[in-house]
Amino acid sequence: MTMTPQGLPVAAMLINGRLVPALSGETSISINPADGIPLAAIPYGDDRDAKLAVDAAAAAFPAWASLSAAVRAKYLHRVADILEHRRDEVALVVTNEEGKPLREAQGELQLSVDSLRWFAEEARRAYGSWIPDPVPGRRLLTQRMPVGVCGAIIPWNVPCAMIFRKAAPALAAGCTMVLKPAEATSLVALKVAELFVEAALPDGVINFVTGKASAIGNVLLTDPRVRKISFTGSTEVGRLLMRGAADQIKRTSMELGGNAPVILFEDCNLDAAMAAVAALKFLNAGQACIGANRIYVQSSIYDEVARRLTEHAGRMKVGYGAEPGVVMGPLVDMNAVEKVEELVANAIQKGAKLRVGGSRMQGEAYEKGSFYAPTVLTEVPQTARMHDEEIFGPVAALYRFETEDEVVELANNVPYGLSAYLFTENMDRAIRVAERLETGMVGINETRLGAAEAPFGGVKMSGIGREGGREGLEEYLETKLMAIRVRG
Ligand code: ADP
Repeated sequence: MTMTPQGLPVAAMLINGRLVPALSGETSISINPADGIPLAAIPYGDDRDAKLAVDAAAAAFPAWASLSAAVRAKYLHRVADILEHRRDEVALVVTNEEGKPLREAQGELQLSVDSLRWFAEEARRAYGSWIPDPVPGRRLLTQRMPVGVCGAIIPWNVPCAMIFRKAAPALAAGCTMVLKPAEATSLVALKVAELFVEAALPDGVINFVTGKASAIGNVLLTDPRVRKISFTGSTEVGRLLMRGAADQIKRTSMELGGNAPVILFEDCNLDAAMAAVAALKFLNAGQACIGANRIYVQSSIYDEVARRLTEHAGRMKVGYGAEPGVVMGPLVDMNAVEKVEELVANAIQKGAKLRVGGSRMQGEAYEKGSFYAPTVLTEVPQTARMHDEEIFGPVAALYRFETEDEVVELANNVPYGLSAYLFTENMDRAIRVAERLETGMVGINETRLGAAEAPFGGVKMSGIGREGGREGLEEYLETKLMAIRVRG
């Protein structure tokens, strides 16, 4: 790897099978949010680099699409083998660049490997069908075809697994891909790009372009050879991309923001519920689209829940994610810290009570990083901004409710619908409430939703389409009808 004059490693994009710098020669610097130390120089690509990547993906498509699914599966299993072999090394890059503790980064790596293996096999079962035909002398059949060249735009909060949640089904289905990682976590993506090189995929099947988001995004939207955009990120940018995709009627998959309600009924198993809610809330320092945004607690257990969560938050070891015992890392950057500060100040000003945290982490160890303390707010009013917006930080906001009907209405009263969680030992209530919640996913006494085998995604303004599961493959397949004349 080449170095800058300051001794910083220079990462490379992957275009047409080659590891390359940006045509402009420009770079940006990736930094560790735990201590502000530069990690690497990242190519700052623009529309010209993106165009070359689309050229490569378009040229690679016919040959890749015509391989058998079994042969494509072999390539993907090879990538999975390499990833498994180098999992510690990649997990450390995730921790260093994104901030999450190593254990969480390892979880991301596992989901990446699982996604590669699941989709490698699932694409071998992309069956067509013979359709009973009402017309004599004709046969109708369908065949599943790859969509074509796909553009993927990746968020920073799950910088490794998000690549594979999109690339694995796309490549398994016979599509080729151009990926644009988030600026904050480009080093993770370029590390992953090296693994694809090591696996010796045909040139151009997968390409990584880092740099100017709008310029690269614009090429993906306007180049007619790109037939689909798969995006994970904010609803705001998702809307922009859907508008752009409309001009050429491109297919889109959108995994957008959430505003998850967590409902604790008085008949829940409190010990189990508290452990699950605390883990969910502070996962990735609260920077998860399925994170606990609004915690609704039934009146009779409210004080006890507040007490236990406050105690938990006060005990958490916060720091650099590779340090032993650390359970929560920094936020991704100082902008994120400032946004959380604003939301907390607004909630307190509207009447919420601060139980613990409520500020940046104090002390020398935290000075150079973007740390915010685990925070619990109680009696948060509906009028607080954090009720309607994604907090995306380690702030537990507790709301009080009395009845089942009331809480279902409260939970549904936002324009988002990604995930929801409910805790009760009453099975009738669990099913009843789960069916009424307007979300793509519901956790019942459970907060872990993800698996390569399961469809992940939202309704309402949380998005369109699913990642993972059988549905995740569908996103990269078209159905072709063939009508065949049969004589005799
Ligand atoms: P967040 O607020 O979590 O950073 P964003 O939606 O801003 O989420 O970013 C998610 C991804 O979308 C990132 O890879 C980012 O670079 C990309 N992105 C942001 N703006 C654009 C744009 N105009 N065109 C294409 N991609 C964009």
